[in-house]
Amino acid sequence: MLSVENLSVNYGAIRALHDVSCRVEQGEIVALIGANGAGKTTILNTISGIVPSMGGVIAFEGTEITRMAPHLIVRKGICQVPEGRRVFARMSVQENLEMGGFILSGKQEVARGIERAFTLFPRLAERRKQPARTLSGGEQQMLAMGRALMSNPRLLLLDEPSMGLAPMLVEKIFEIVVEINKSGTTIMLVEQNASMALSIAHRAYVLETGEVVLSGDAGELARNPEVRKAYLGE
Ligand code: ATP
Repeated sequence: MLSVENLSVNYGAIRALHDVSCRVEQGEIVALIGANGAGKTTILNTISGIVPSMGGVIAFEGTEITRMAPHLIVRKGICQVPEGRRVFARMSVQENLEMGGFILSGKQEVARGIERAFTLFPRLAERRKQPARTLSGGEQQMLAMGRALMSNPRLLLLDEPSMGLAPMLVEKIFEIVVEINKSGTTIMLVEQNASMALSIAHRAYVLETGEVVLSGDAGELARNPEVRKAYLGE
């Protein structure tokens, strides 16, 4: 579905990614794990078209999207839930969801999308008129995910959904990620919480200083002694 080949990205003199290749097959949850600054967010931002690449090719469903504008990439069927949620603070829950539906053609389609988001996240329905800045961290994460799903993406890019959340909420969010995947959305997941990410992912890539150092079946990686020592706190 998605293929990233030999991707290189620099921020000025800083090399963020070097020759990174990875792929996502339809129906998968693929996790990207690695330490702070390894380049995980940069991969998602480059796929979304927010960060320009220096070299390499990104293709989605057979079409090259490497230098496409972000709003066109959304129209192709890829949507990102950014790190830190980035909800529109002064807008209500409902207005945030409407913004996520900017590519939809009619009011009915938007209303259907919002109802779907409320079914997935009943908590948001209760708070539909509340300004997004007054939501808790977990609720903001749900809103950011609901907003991204409004565009009916076939590939959802999730950046650190567990960041700053209490352990119980982290579990809840991961359950919802699995549910979204089971209902047909392919997912690329960036996570600091490597053990949670590996527990729900089909496959994973391990990044170190801008390069892929390991990849494979998520269960196998979770049993790999090097991964356990470096990322699973053993
Ligand atoms: P984290 O988990 O901390 O978010 P990450 O693996 O997602 O880390 P990136 O955010 O992709 O890593 O950053 C990769 C490298 O690029 C880091 O060294 C970071 O400091 C650098 N970097 C990221 N964004 C910028 C920027 N806008 N300008 C300059 N350097 C940047």
